Amino acid sequence: MGVEIHESVLASTVNMADIKAQAVVSELSEPETTLKPPVADNFMYDFKYNHTLPTSDALGIEVPTDCNAQKEAESILERLSKTMGAGDAQAFTDMFLEYGVWRDKLSFTWDYRTFNFQTAILKAATDLFPKTKATNFKFLMPAPTVARPYPDFAQLQFVVSFETELVAASAVINSVLTKEGWKIYTMHTVAEKLKQFPEIPPADGHMNGLVSWQTQRAKEIDAAKPEILIIGGGQNGLALAARCKALGMESLIIERSEEVGDVWKKRYEYLSLHFPHWADDLPYFAYPKHWPTYTPAYKQGMYMEWYASALELKVWTKSEVVKAEQDDKTNWTIVINKEGKEARTLHPKQVVMATSLCGVPMTPTIPGMADFKGVIRHSSAHDSSRDFVGKKVCVVGTSSSGFDTAFDCSRRGIDVTLLQRSPTYVMSLTHSVPRMIASYGPDADGYRPSHEEQDRFFFATPVGPGEELARRNAKVLEDLDRPLLDALNARGLRTWRGQRGTGGATLGQTRNGGFYFDAGACEHIIDGKIKVESGYIENFTEDKAILNGGREREFDLIVFATGFSNTVDSVRATLGDKIADQCGPIWGIDEEGEFKTVYRETGVPNLWIMAGYLPYTRFHSKLLAMRMKALNEGIALAPYKVQIF
Ligand SMILES: Cc1cc2nc3c(=O)[nH]c(=O)nc-3n(C[C@H](O)[C@H](O)[C@H](O)COP(=O)(O)OP(=O)(O)OC[C@H]3O[C@@H](n4cnc5c(N)ncnc54)[C@H](O)[C@@H]3O)c2cc1C
Repeated sequence: MGVEIHESVLASTVNMADIKAQAVVSELSEPETTLKPPVADNFMYDFKYNHTLPTSDALGIEVPTDCNAQKEAESILERLSKTMGAGDAQAFTDMFLEYGVWRDKLSFTWDYRTFNFQTAILKAATDLFPKTKATNFKFLMPAPTVARPYPDFAQLQFVVSFETELVAASAVINSVLTKEGWKIYTMHTVAEKLKQFPEIPPADGHMNGLVSWQTQRAKEIDAAKPEILIIGGGQNGLALAARCKALGMESLIIERSEEVGDVWKKRYEYLSLHFPHWADDLPYFAYPKHWPTYTPAYKQGMYMEWYASALELKVWTKSEVVKAEQDDKTNWTIVINKEGKEARTLHPKQVVMATSLCGVPMTPTIPGMADFKGVIRHSSAHDSSRDFVGKKVCVVGTSSSGFDTAFDCSRRGIDVTLLQRSPTYVMSLTHSVPRMIASYGPDADGYRPSHEEQDRFFFATPVGPGEELARRNAKVLEDLDRPLLDALNARGLRTWRGQRGTGGATLGQTRNGGFYFDAGACEHIIDGKIKVESGYIENFTEDKAILNGGREREFDLIVFATGFSNTVDSVRATLGDKIADQCGPIWGIDEEGEFKTVYRETGVPNLWIMAGYLPYTRFHSKLLAMRMKALNEGIALAPYKVQIF
């Protein structure tokens, strides 16, 4: 991925020279010198195949600067095409580095699987090649290139399409030069289309009937008898419904809010999305050209509302599941409370939970809480600090919501304290955005590249090599952000380099939080407009919060930005104990490097979980819809479940 900085990002970030000048030692509190990291390295992370990068030092050879990438890629592809076409597992395996990685999504395994190192690749290829033959390999854009993300690490990167009996697929191949020639370091194969069931053409649209378009649409929504029932109409529910529709499957979304988009519209009023929108478009309905770089949350909610309407999705708002059952043939019976007016019984083939990764809001139970005369709220119930001007506010927790809430207070001149229990991963947008999503960014004329092309690369890196690269990137970012971090540390805010030293990368795959991409709060911490204290509230009296060590503090409002419980609590609250108890652990990384349960089998037949932030939404919704279509049409192969450790 190229590293370039976009003007739109630079304009919105704080000035490093100012930061240095403003850095002063905190007089507010004596910070603890060592705060325990919020999570251990293995928190929700079972992956076992770490291996250092195949650098030029490790390989003892460098990729020549005049390397003809196209010619070298052609020669690799010729061999690959021969070995895979012939189903020769050993010859295929021999093309990889000893610690090479083959990752597959649906094209061979009908699951999400990663085979780390040659032994696992050989076993998987031996099992899978007799059932699935890959043919018709062709180069896709962009043209092969030698990517050199670091001076000591270069890989030849190219993308190809291929076919199996059932799917049209693509592969991203990264090869490194060894003394024995090119070896594949990572290969990601992904199903892109069911050959028998491509996306359906658009409706004709002529108004030939006796009722208006809107009356007809309202009738169809009301009368929905879905093949796919999606619970939750946030970005994941909507995108999945759109994908299902494109494949000719009738879906219905059950959404408990008043309106589609409320999940963003009713978040705190001062929120904008934390990253530029470049990689965020939902499928089939891209943001228009002059969309603001950081989408205001309310506007994102409106985009979702337009999306449901433009793509003619079926949504029952103000509705919830009241009963969910599966008989012994795994057929679903789901009873819905439709708008509080009537009960409707549905029999979908597949049910998808798209109620987010958040379970229920977590607020700690603290002695004396009930006696406290001030206001106590979870961040999810706090929409603004406008009523607390002239008062004292404490924000507990230093993830994104904590920083945002404190920043809202400080902008209103409110006396606000951020209470930090464990270190936070902080990075500036100036330095992180170019290294994370520059490839999705606009060109000089404001045009963004094809998401289809960029997504192939974005999702191609397996977890092991991804972790190695992320660790390097986190160090580079930390060095670049050093003035910012030093200034924050001087104010008592503790920072760290994230779980496994990978910045926000591993935290995003496990805790789904614990980081802050500086959207402005850092400057106010450095200026002293947001005070920072270390520790936690030990107990309450009527008018005080007593922090650990006996520090007495008076506050009018305490906002607990302390996160949410695991997704399984949402499954439990919606589908009941019996179903929730059968579900595997949700989110986090398994031993071979895949997400647990999400997008894959859940442990409950015909139940799926669709979750994740916006680029994940676009990418994985396509795969999950394809998988359900293949199952409903009876063409899906059994997922490959052999565990190779
Ligand atoms: C401050 C902040 C900033 C963020 N910035 C970004 C960003 O820049 N980019 C990004 O990608 N992500 C960002 N996120 C994360 C973002 O919240 C998630 O990516 C997104 O909400 C996940 O979408 P979802 O559809 O899975 O869940 P949600 O958006 O939470 O949608 C779930 C829907 O399900 C409904 N629901 C829940 N339970 C039920 C039920 N039992 N029955 C019926 N309906 C139900 C809810 O009402 C809701 O509409 C941010 C989050 C926060 C808090």
